[in-house]
Amino acid sequence: MVIMLCAKVKWQMNLVLPKKQTGVWNGSNKTMGDSFMDIWIGIIGLSLGSFLNTCIYRIPRHQSIIWPRSYCTSCGRQIRSIDLVPFFSWIFLHGHCYYCRAPISCRYAVIEVLTSLTSVIVYKNENGSAAFFAGILLIGFLISIAFIDYDWHLIFDKVLLSFAFCGGIVQMFLGQTSYLNMFLGFLTGGGCLLLFMILSHGGMGGGDVKFAAVLGIWFGWQDILLILWIAFVLGGLVGILLLATGKKTRKDFVPFGPFLAFAAFFIYLYGNIILSVYQAIAYG
Ligand SMILES: [Zn+2]
Repeated sequence: MVIMLCAKVKWQMNLVLPKKQTGVWNGSNKTMGDSFMDIWIGIIGLSLGSFLNTCIYRIPRHQSIIWPRSYCTSCGRQIRSIDLVPFFSWIFLHGHCYYCRAPISCRYAVIEVLTSLTSVIVYKNENGSAAFFAGILLIGFLISIAFIDYDWHLIFDKVLLSFAFCGGIVQMFLGQTSYLNMFLGFLTGGGCLLLFMILSHGGMGGGDVKFAAVLGIWFGWQDILLILWIAFVLGGLVGILLLATGKKTRKDFVPFGPFLAFAAFFIYLYGNIILSVYQAIAYG
């Protein structure tokens, strides 16, 4: 149905986020300078991941994400400056608090590495252009929303409002698409999931509906359809797997936010290629 609808409309490649069609890893002419930048961006990504860890822990608890300084969640003591080095501190302390030796979840390190890797991918995808900052903002929001939703089954309005506001700022500076496309994306993303929520009698949370609407602002109406499609397919597959392995029952709730976030990052990287292939097939 969606595909038939799309076929009637001429695709326009004017998306909020600029994307390259040359693939992510096109570093055939890699120089020393490129490698240095990759490492530098990776280190910045680790620090960003550390900040995201703070956001993921504190936002649901309605704590400030700026103050106070990072502290151990077991003994409450402030973490020493030397132990604030992302990822490596966790390795050197063998995943334990310096003071009380309480275990520190490896997830902190995983999120830092994940943010570092995705930052480098974004940097390569944008070839060092100003759109890199937009990409970094995007992954920052996607990672924090996905993990908060995974932990709490909640997507907070204040995070979504900031995400939407940043989408507007990105558009103001980069001007990659029309405001109409952003508005249509908002309606398409929010509308589709709202419809699903009503038809499934609450099979989808209100936070997911709002998250999809904000993603529509960032991606425009064409890409948000692809994002929803990928998120539904992926969510369905994971759901079947969880049921088959007995890890979840039919009554258990599986948060949809992480699937939306993953699909959004995938389309950020490959949306143009997918639309080009579809266009080639649809219009010969
Ligand atoms: Zn401690």
